[in-house]
Amino acid sequence: MGGTGPSKIEKDFEQCGEELPERYLGFENKDNICYANSVLQALYFCQDFRKYLINQKIASRDTVMSQLQELYITMITSKRKTGVMSTKNVMSKCKVLNELFDNDDHHDSHEFLIWLINRLDEELKAQGSQSWVQQLFEGKFTTQTKCLCCQNVTHRDEVFMDLSLDVKQNCSILSSLKRYSEIETLSGADKFYCETCACKQEAQTRTLIKDPPNILICHLKRFKYSDELRRYTKLSYRVAFPSQLRLNNTVDNCPEKLYELFACIVHLGPGFQYGHYMAIVKSHGHWIRFDDDYVEKVDEALIQHIFGSSKEIGSVPCGYILFYRATF
Ligand SMILES: [Zn+2]
Repeated sequence: MGGTGPSKIEKDFEQCGEELPERYLGFENKDNICYANSVLQALYFCQDFRKYLINQKIASRDTVMSQLQELYITMITSKRKTGVMSTKNVMSKCKVLNELFDNDDHHDSHEFLIWLINRLDEELKAQGSQSWVQQLFEGKFTTQTKCLCCQNVTHRDEVFMDLSLDVKQNCSILSSLKRYSEIETLSGADKFYCETCACKQEAQTRTLIKDPPNILICHLKRFKYSDELRRYTKLSYRVAFPSQLRLNNTVDNCPEKLYELFACIVHLGPGFQYGHYMAIVKSHGHWIRFDDDYVEKVDEALIQHIFGSSKEIGSVPCGYILFYRATF
């Protein structure tokens, strides 16, 4: 968008008689990096993430954190309100540190997101800083297992950075969360070792959220390996996700949080090796679509069009990673 005329996003705002509330900058896509570009946009529009990163004191320039901070600072201080930036420096660092991404192949944006978050968390801890990454994204769940012989219940806590949810045709985030926490019976080869009985017993187990994160990332498991095709295919199932969400799979005394959707990574195409990603984010009450270097304002109604389709397999645009923030 090196031209002199107004960009698409500027025209969009002009049409509704409004000024651009902040800078909306696209990212170049030179080496199939839409999987990363969409993640970097979603995180940029996570207000707390952006704020903490920009204000973070950096001990070493040789980190992903340093490169990402530089990118975001260039973005917030850009003279132009629209245009295209390059994520090359961030990506070069990521590629050096993780050979999985060190090629021009298509990748799974979820894999990249989780790797990036963990990497930033490690870099903060390595320089002795408090990890705001952990503070933003980390939640805790607890697995309760009841021995069906002695009725003794054991609890095991585990932390998570995101929730990976199974999808079904015509389901919703809420039903997927419920299914995530359904009671399972451990029997046969899966019997549970009960400390009280001192032997393997049948047991019932369920996993509930104990500590909901400030930023909740829900990953829809849309890629499924097909033995027949010998590659991952995409489940295009319709999965509805509300703009506001209350978790329905928490322990009884869990602090209640109301979540609001602020970003969604959308996948287009038949599978992650043969597809495309874009990010749709909420900014100052508007929904903005970032498709690499193409940026436009979209109607809120578009969100319903990315729930998926009535066909199992297909290449329609589908919500893939959802970002919710706790509003209190
Ligand atoms: Zn027992």
